[in-house]
Amino acid sequence: MLREAFPCLHQQVNGKDLVYFDNAATAMRPQVVIDAVNDYYCRHNANIHRGVHCLSGRATDLYEQARASLARLIHAPSPDNLIFVRGCTEAVNLVAQTFVRERLKPGDEILISHLEHHSNIVPWQILCQQTGAKLKVIPMNDRGELVLDELDTLMNERTKFMSVIHVSNALGTINPVKELIAKAHAKDIPVLVDGAQSTPHLKVDVQDLDCDFYTVSGHKMYGPTGSGVLYGKATHLEAMPPYHGGGEMISKVTFEETVYNKVPAKFEAGTPNIAGGIGLGAAAEFMLDVGLEAIAQREDHLKQYTEQALKTIPGLRILGEASQKSPVFSFLIDGIHPHDIGTIIDHHGVAIRTGHHCTMPIFQFFDVPGSCRASLAFYNTEHEVDILVESLNQAKAMFS
Ligand code: PMP
Repeated sequence: MLREAFPCLHQQVNGKDLVYFDNAATAMRPQVVIDAVNDYYCRHNANIHRGVHCLSGRATDLYEQARASLARLIHAPSPDNLIFVRGCTEAVNLVAQTFVRERLKPGDEILISHLEHHSNIVPWQILCQQTGAKLKVIPMNDRGELVLDELDTLMNERTKFMSVIHVSNALGTINPVKELIAKAHAKDIPVLVDGAQSTPHLKVDVQDLDCDFYTVSGHKMYGPTGSGVLYGKATHLEAMPPYHGGGEMISKVTFEETVYNKVPAKFEAGTPNIAGGIGLGAAAEFMLDVGLEAIAQREDHLKQYTEQALKTIPGLRILGEASQKSPVFSFLIDGIHPHDIGTIIDHHGVAIRTGHHCTMPIFQFFDVPGSCRASLAFYNTEHEVDILVESLNQAKAMFS
């Protein structure tokens, strides 16, 4: 069974079998990913791209094969459309400070949505401070869905860029990004999609979406922490100025001037997270082997099972019940603080997250400081959901 592929799932915490429902914070890694990282350090350890010796050649091949695997995963036209980054946070900052910064003048607008993670809010606020541009927000409703009625006003001649989340890490909402992109493009507005929570769960096709940029977070999709890729359309990547300056991103340096390397090296200054990139490639291959449709189907079933199960608990309120949703449940229980719930059920071996999940504006909307969040992955089981419900009922009993 697939679950066997994930060694960290098979342990006891607090004397109970671990139930890991914190996948939206970071997922578990299959043995093939751990082996790929280990193998690089044990057998191929060398710096990439510059070496003429055998190990450097092998490490370079592995790193570039990983780029190709990721291109296959999200159906990018070429591996050269992908820039290795530390994760989605770095990817958004890169696009903000290169592609978007050059296009802004005071009074211009950047459009995001109410469902964004802080990493898709703060970089734009910094950019607005630097340029005099303004941040505009697509509103949400109490089901946790975006309200698209005002889109025609929100997308106007001042709008220079839109950056939207594909799947909400806090509520699980799957946004209609293809429709949003088409609407933005009709007004010549380029679009970045934050794919941190979509790539682990859905089949993503960047060419079908026609997005200008797409961000992938390695550690959410069963890869190493501190790894990720930014997809960009080739014309944009060619035209954009570099982000970081240093080694690797140049083809010639004199004290008078520097000629930059070609894409994607132009954006990859310094020695990268080589082991992380190789591990991320192994994660992409693992997902392709399991099958992206199979993953989505299994998670859809788990989502329905969990929703039914949570609804049996009196006094439990699920925040955000979008019609299109991935298996992420933010919930509150009457009279018990989320941190208390998290701490009590940890004693039953159940790992969930409590707090604002780096999405404070969502909780300002619901007028609560935070929630409990159970986020599932395809390797979770119905039995684990039953344990969650049992432990929540016990937490309730303690407080009644
Ligand atoms: N966007 C979303 C929706 C996320 O869930 C996260 C991580 N919690 C990020 C962005 C940031 O990603 P990373 O950790 O790769 O920087």
